[in-house]
Amino acid sequence: MARIVFMNIPAQGHTNPTLAVVKELVRRGDTVIYYSFTKFQAAIESTGAEFRSYDQELPIDPDNPDPNLVRYATELLETAQLLVPQLLPRVVAEKPDAIIHDSLCAWGLIIARSLKLPSICSISTFAISPRVAVTSFRDAWDFGAMMLESASDLVKFFRIGAALRREYGFAQAVPPEMYSNFSDRNIIYTSAELQPYSASFPANFRFVGASIEEKPPDSDFAQSNFAQSNFPLPDAPQRRIYISLGTLFNNNLPFYKMCIEALSGVDARVIMSIGKKIAVQDLGTLPSNISAYSFVPQLDVLRKSDVFITHGGMNSVHEALWFGVPTVIVPQAADQKFVSKRLDALGAGIRIAKDEVNAERLRNAVEKILTTQSYKEVSTKLGDTLRRAGGAQKAADEIQDFIADRMRY
Ligand code: UDP
Repeated sequence: MARIVFMNIPAQGHTNPTLAVVKELVRRGDTVIYYSFTKFQAAIESTGAEFRSYDQELPIDPDNPDPNLVRYATELLETAQLLVPQLLPRVVAEKPDAIIHDSLCAWGLIIARSLKLPSICSISTFAISPRVAVTSFRDAWDFGAMMLESASDLVKFFRIGAALRREYGFAQAVPPEMYSNFSDRNIIYTSAELQPYSASFPANFRFVGASIEEKPPDSDFAQSNFAQSNFPLPDAPQRRIYISLGTLFNNNLPFYKMCIEALSGVDARVIMSIGKKIAVQDLGTLPSNISAYSFVPQLDVLRKSDVFITHGGMNSVHEALWFGVPTVIVPQAADQKFVSKRLDALGAGIRIAKDEVNAERLRNAVEKILTTQSYKEVSTKLGDTLRRAGGAQKAADEIQDFIADRMRY
């Protein structure tokens, strides 16, 4: 039985898919020691893992990641520089056989390499290669604009990168690589059918499908106004529309007001999850067909939804497909741009760019999805690929086989 140290960033989307996997590893007899923020302690401990906090050491603001990908990459690199010396002795004392680290946790990869431990990368988004990241001239242009906007961070990035290279042989040379700290084995919680250019990834990339735990992930739900309300979604044939921008890039009052304008009076029941950065009262008096909450049990809501208006966070998209729910995607930041392009290209959803969205476009997209059967069919098929790929069981098999192989050397 192996002792495994798991290192994650304190984000719901990066944590959720790991929980069922960790639970399965623990059930099979492995010991998992999981580093994250106290916010996730209850969810992590409920898997049977031992929780370790690095709230104090991690200098990033978990609730407000910088949407500029160059600045955020620099923050992640700074975090690695600060964390590695502090964490190394703690990890040595844990005597692990292997390290699993999130694809954004460069510090996990550095520590694994320093201790010559086998390492596994946990990838909660699409696996990002340059080909995946840049699918159009516009993408390259946008990234160039972010570099110009944050030239001083770029200088900082190269300075810290050089220091980490000298000290630990850290290989990542440019900001985009901070989103792809790939390891000896890479577990991607999506299907090969959904991942763009999946055939271009080498054999040590394993697409295990969605890892979905059908229960509210943490205490956010218990504290939300949804917990106190009566579950308001009616049964079919009435249409049900769910709206959420996820947990990070959700501070967007104009967007929620636009949704209300678009869907007020429409013959459908609308549930909005608006997060905790905005108060429900800030939305004003809601039309009778719309209810808003700070946090909802998303899986329960999606199970009964006909359309999901989403930011295109990978978990939200997986959860929607899991229940065969088509999406209208308005990407806000991070990987959401290429996730939304992929869903649009496959015919599972309609993408509307953030700077092009308005109430009319939103209403038209919802209407189109409700009246075009193929969106539902494609979403259901993709949901099947996510189930068939094996999920948490398959991820645990891959992790255990890999560690067993390495321990035999
Ligand atoms: N979530 C939830 N209730 C809410 C809003 C979000 O349970 O009201 C969960 C959702 O089910 C998903 C995660 O939070 O698992 C959000 O992850 P995603 O990757 O979609 O977006 P992020 O928050 O990372 O931008």
